[in-house]
Amino acid sequence: MVAKPLLKKLAKEHGTPLFVVDHEQLRRNLAEFKRWLPRVQPYYAVKANSLPEIVRTLYRAGASFDVASLPEFLCVHENIKDLPAKERQDFIWDKIIYANPIKAIATLKTLDQYKPLVTYDNYEEIRKVKKYAPHAGMVLRLKVPNTGAMVELSSKFGAAPGEAVNLIEASEKAGLTVEGLSFHVGSQTTNFQNYVQALNLAADILKEARARGYRQMKQLDIGGGFPAPYDANVQPLRELAKILNSEIKRLFPKDVQILAEPGRFLVATACTSVAQVIGKADRDGRRCYYINDGVYHTYSGIIFDHCKYPVKAFKKGPTQICAVFGPTCDALDTISLTEELPDLDLGDLVYSENIGAYSHASSTYFNGFPPAQVVHINQA
Ligand SMILES: *Cc1c(COP(=O)(O)O)cnc(C)c1O
Repeated sequence: MVAKPLLKKLAKEHGTPLFVVDHEQLRRNLAEFKRWLPRVQPYYAVKANSLPEIVRTLYRAGASFDVASLPEFLCVHENIKDLPAKERQDFIWDKIIYANPIKAIATLKTLDQYKPLVTYDNYEEIRKVKKYAPHAGMVLRLKVPNTGAMVELSSKFGAAPGEAVNLIEASEKAGLTVEGLSFHVGSQTTNFQNYVQALNLAADILKEARARGYRQMKQLDIGGGFPAPYDANVQPLRELAKILNSEIKRLFPKDVQILAEPGRFLVATACTSVAQVIGKADRDGRRCYYINDGVYHTYSGIIFDHCKYPVKAFKKGPTQICAVFGPTCDALDTISLTEELPDLDLGDLVYSENIGAYSHASSTYFNGFPPAQVVHINQA
C-alpha cells in the first residue's frame, strides 16, 4: 500500500488523474507466488497491465511472460533484448508463451522466426500454424469448469476433453510437436475446486496421450485465475497453493514442468489511482461527485472486469452515501452509487487502491479525455 502522504505529493507534482505503480509491491507479489508455489514457473499475463516498466521489473525478478497478441510479444521481446546479455536467456520458451488459441495469419508469419510456443484448441488452427508458423511448438488449451470465477473464460476457448487426444494426434500428424497442455479456470477464482477439477482432467489427458505414444509432452500450464486480495473474504494464495501443490505432486510425474500465467495476482495490489473532484451536485437527495477519472479510463475494470474499486478520500469527517461519476458525458461512466465519503470540495483528491489489473490497460480516449498519467515508484 502506497503511503497517503506520498500519493498526495505525487498528485501535486504530476497532476491528476494519476496511476501510481509501486514496483516494490510487484516484486513482493512475485516473490510470494514463488514462495508458495516453488514448482511452478510464473509467466506474467501481460494483458493484465502491459506497461513496459512492469514487464522489465518482473523480468528482472525472475518472471517469464504470457502474451496474447503480436504487440505484447514484441513488447516483452524488446524489453528482454535490451537487458545485458548475462541477464538474458536466449531460449524463448523459457521466457514467453503465446497463449492466445486464435492467431491471425499475419501474426503467425511474424512469430515464426522466433520459434514460439503457442496454444491452440481446434483443427483450423493446426492447419494455419502448420502453414504460417511451422517452427512453432504447440500447447493444447483445454476447456475446464470456470464455476464462480469473477470473469468467465471457458465459453470462448478450450478443447472439449473428449476431443483433446485427437487434437494432439492431429497436430503431431501435421508435424507440429505438442509440448503440453494448458487451461484457465476463470479470472479471480475463489472457488479452488476449479483448479482441482482442471488438474485431474489434464492428468487424465496427459496419461492417455502418453499411452498413445505421445511421450514428449512435458509442459503443464495451469493458467491464471489466482485471486487478488481485494477484500478479507478472499483466501490467501497460501491456501490455494496447499491444494495445488498436493494435487500436482499426486497427479503429475516429476518430469512434467509446471507453469502458470498469473496476471491479476501480480499487478492488482501494486497500483493506486488518484483523481480530483471536478464537480459536485445534490440530485434526488443524493450527493453526487464528479471526478476526473472514470470507467472509460482507469476504472474500466468496473465494466470489463466486473470489479469494484472503493473510492476513498484523504479528507476526514462525517460521511454520507454518495454517487461517484467519471468525467465523460455518458451515464455509463458511473464508478459507484453507494460510496461512503465525507463532504468534499472541488479540487479535493480521492484515490482507489488495488487497481493495477485490467484497469489502465483498457483505458480509452473517449470524449477526448486521455488515460491517466503513469508514475512509477521504487523502480530498481
Ligand atoms: C487473461 C489470461 C490470464 C491471466 O489471468 P488472471 O486471472 O489475471 O491471472 C492467463 N492466461 C490466459 C490464457 C488469459 O487469457
